[in-house]
Amino acid sequence: MSDIESLLALQNDDLAIHALETRLAALEPRIKALDARRQRIVDTIERQGALVATEEKKQAFLRDKIQEHRALIDRNQAQLDAVKTMRQATAAAAQMEQAKKIVAGEESDLLALSRKLEELRGALNAAKADLAACEAEQATARTEVASERAAIEGELAQAQQQRARTASAVPDALRSRYDRIRNKKRQHVVVALNAMACGACDTAIPMQRRHAMMSGTVIELCEVCGVLMYHAG
Ligand SMILES: [Zn+2]
Repeated sequence: MSDIESLLALQNDDLAIHALETRLAALEPRIKALDARRQRIVDTIERQGALVATEEKKQAFLRDKIQEHRALIDRNQAQLDAVKTMRQATAAAAQMEQAKKIVAGEESDLLALSRKLEELRGALNAAKADLAACEAEQATARTEVASERAAIEGELAQAQQQRARTASAVPDALRSRYDRIRNKKRQHVVVALNAMACGACDTAIPMQRRHAMMSGTVIELCEVCGVLMYHAG
């Protein structure tokens, strides 16, 4: 095999590897889309959960207050039972009336709060059901993507082994020139001449170099676009 042939074989292997890597990268947006949809529901659950927790705290606080104020009413009642004068009775009754009003207000607040909590818990449960449905729905798609990825990764491992074998047939100096150019993100490093011009950028080959290149064994660097040129014969 000539240097040009072995170099072209190496380029073929690299193109195959690049195609596999492109397919692998194309799976990422699919996984990201699945993750993003699921994450939106997870965020909703978190938000709803926080709202429920806040309202539950308010509810517990209000319940404590009501208990406290009911105890106050009981004490007022005891005072009322123990009074000796009309004046004391009027004062104690007024105090009790006041405390009863406060408790009535708090109880109506508690009722409103309980209704609100019921709604919030309903929304939280709905979001949890959404998550379960989303996960069930995505299971197939995720399995599909995972098996596609495994298949491509298997092909890629084989292609890389193949590339290592091909690379060992290319003379070291030529291979490192090729690798240097390829590392600049160029896919087609080795390009056939097109009517005595670079096949990549169409720059004409100087007269004095044409004869050597026509022999079919010379590989030249295009000084304009940086590819390795050869004459395809
Ligand atoms: Zn060129």
